[in-house]
Order: sequence, then C-alpha cells, then structure tokens
Amino acid sequence: MEQEHLARAGLYGLLGPRWVEIEVTALENNLREVKKILRPFTRLLAVVKADAYGAGAVEAARVFCQAGADYLGVTTLAEGVELRRQGITIPILVMSPLLPEEIPQALAWGLTLAVASRWGAEAVAQAVRETGRLARIHLKIESGMYRAGLEPEEVKALIRDILSWPGVVVEGAYTHLAQAAHSRKAWEQFRLFFRVCQELEEEGLKIPLKHIANSYACLAYPEMHLDMVRVGTLLYGHYPAGTIHQEIKLQDPWKVKARLLHIREVPAGTAVGYGGDYVTKRATRLGVLPLGYADGLGLTAITRPKSWPDLLRFLAKTFLAYWGWQHREEAVLVRGRPVPIIGRVGMQLSLVDLGDIPAQEGEEVEISLGRPFTSARLPRLYLREGEPYLLRLPTGEWRGLKDKAGFRAR
Ligand SMILES: *Cc1c(COP(=O)(O)O)cnc(C)c1O
Repeated sequence: MEQEHLARAGLYGLLGPRWVEIEVTALENNLREVKKILRPFTRLLAVVKADAYGAGAVEAARVFCQAGADYLGVTTLAEGVELRRQGITIPILVMSPLLPEEIPQALAWGLTLAVASRWGAEAVAQAVRETGRLARIHLKIESGMYRAGLEPEEVKALIRDILSWPGVVVEGAYTHLAQAAHSRKAWEQFRLFFRVCQELEEEGLKIPLKHIANSYACLAYPEMHLDMVRVGTLLYGHYPAGTIHQEIKLQDPWKVKARLLHIREVPAGTAVGYGGDYVTKRATRLGVLPLGYADGLGLTAITRPKSWPDLLRFLAKTFLAYWGWQHREEAVLVRGRPVPIIGRVGMQLSLVDLGDIPAQEGEEVEISLGRPFTSARLPRLYLREGEPYLLRLPTGEWRGLKDKAGFRAR
C-alpha cells in the first residue's frame, strides 16, 4: 500500500534506490515524553548535532521548536549557521569551543558560545571589541571528562576578567558526564560542578542556566535536571544503554529503505562478492541492495570489552569469522521477513539471500541501519502520520510534497 502510494506520488524518481524515512510525530511524542519528567521551570535543550543524529538537523530542529524545545545544541559553527539560514530563531548553543577565527561569524549569527579555556574567553572578548556585537556565553567546566573545559581554579581567576568585559554575557555554565551510567562517578562530577557554580555566584556572577544532564541523567537522576537538560538520544527514540527507569514511552521515527536493484539465482557452491568471502551452500536467490559501507552499512562501533564475558564474546566472534561465520548488526526485512546480508559489504552495493521469498526487482525493503552511521547523502523523507510532506535531497535541496498527486517545491 505504502509502496503504491510513494510510486503514485511520483516520489521514486526523486528518491532514487535508497532513502531514510522520518516520522515527525514520533519526534514530537519523544519531546513531550521527556518534558513530562521535567519540572515546569527546567528548560529543554534539544541536541541536534551531527545532523540531528542522522534525522536531518533542519527539519528535526523545526519540529522540536514547535513541540516546545527552549534551546538547540550543535557541535560546530557550520551546524549552527545552517539552522539560522533556514530560519530557526530560538537560542542555539555551540557545545564545542570554536577557534578564534570562527567567533565573529558565530556572533553575527547570534549563536551562544561555549567557553572552555582562557584562550577561548579572550578570543570572544576580542571578537566583541572588533564587531561591537554582544556575546552570550556558557562556561564549560571541567569535572572529569578531560576533553574541553575550564578547571575549577582557572574559571575563578577568569571570571573577574569576564565580568569586566563589556558585551560578554555569561548566560550559563555546564559540564558533561563522562560515565553517566556509573552513578558514583556521575554524582562526583555533579557535586564538583555544583560547588564551582556556587563559588562563582559568591563572586557576584549570576548564572541563569546551569546544566549537566544528558539523556541518561535525565532519566536516572532527576536531581541533576537543574535549570536545563541537554537531550539527544531520547528525542530520537532510543533509551540510553543501561537505563532502568523507562517510565517514558518513546517512539522510533526512523526507517531506512531501499529498492532491490537486481535479483538473480546462483547454484550451490558459488563464491559471491569481493574476495569470494561467502560461498553459497545451496541454490540461492540473491538480491542486490543499493547500500554499502560508504552509506554506513556494516559499520560497528567497537568499544573496549568491559568484563570477562564481554571479552570472550568478542574473541568468539573473531574466531568464528575465520571459518566463514558472519555476524551482522543489521537486518534486512523483505516483505516483513528478515533475510541475511551475505558476502563482503561493498562500498555502495551489497547482497542479500532472499531465501524463498517471492520478492521482485524494484521492490522496497527495509534495513535496520543505525542512525549515526547512516550517510547524510541518503535522501531524508519526512512523514506526518505516514504521509510524506517534505524531502531533503543529497544535493541539499528541499522539496515540499503538499498534494498527493504530485509535489511542489517549497
Ligand atoms: C551529545 C551531547 C549531549 C546529548 O547526549 P545524549 O546522551 O544523546 O542525550 C549532551 N551534551 C553534550 C555536551 C553533548 O555533546
């Protein structure tokens, strides 16, 4: 049904053979669910860094703004500028420190800056003097992550200077948890951060927005909500690993789809794909999937094994792979049934074993491709209650899809 609908709407020609579908009512639902567990005065900063974890930053930001986000968070200057260019007006915090050369542009676009070093603070002051613009800053405090952040002693020495610089306004202070799920370490970071904020306030600095909580802390430690929470993972429909308190009901907005480019039958004993890594055990119907590792297929994050059983599992997989056993994170659904990806994943193509499913060439299949890995070059199709309304093409163009019969440029 859905397939017919897409074809009828003339979308296939625009979408090409693979795309991502994002159901925006799920994003709205997730933001409202998070708000339910916040106190009324706690603000919500929606993290839309890294192209909104793959969901497409501009449209995700628009949806979050309309659903009641108070602030947006990005990592780079370019991410902030993209949102402003597309007409997003709510405050945006650039959560990574910028280089001195980037600061004038960030001020011109009205972005809020993170200050994580004396070097960074002086660069902001300099840019304010040169441009005559106001700088809103959040002090990033070091509390145990040891990435970017002002050491507690450093920030106290710096604050007297900052207070003397006209045009530099400290709007907030924050820190980031290194191991949110490790409650003793998380609370240590929290107490250190809270103490530094208190000491700064004793020096006469008012800090309206103090924030520390990411998705995990948002669920697990309500006492850490403070003035604002910075949430990403939950908004995109995932519970952070290890959370136990699942009192909120999240929805997954995300589907990766592709159309089978070709189907062929090969006899038993055929070595398929690069390197002949996979040899068919029986006569096999192969489907060609227009996705490969350049699109994010077959990529996994390898983290350090945390326990002996973890390590054993890791070693077992490596051993078994030597004898041709394949483990894949992704599943491909053909007519709702899972089929395996076989052979080595290519750069932009791979193979599936269709088994006895009477799939046809050109047919839509679904792939459980992880959000952050999925290439931004795949088109993003936005749907509201299943109805496509907007398309972001890999060229950066947008198409509004207003009526069912066709589409109109936005
Ligand atoms: C990514 C990020 C977040 C959001 O983390 P989630 O666990 O996805 O909610 C919050 N704060 C900072 C500084 C981040 O970089």
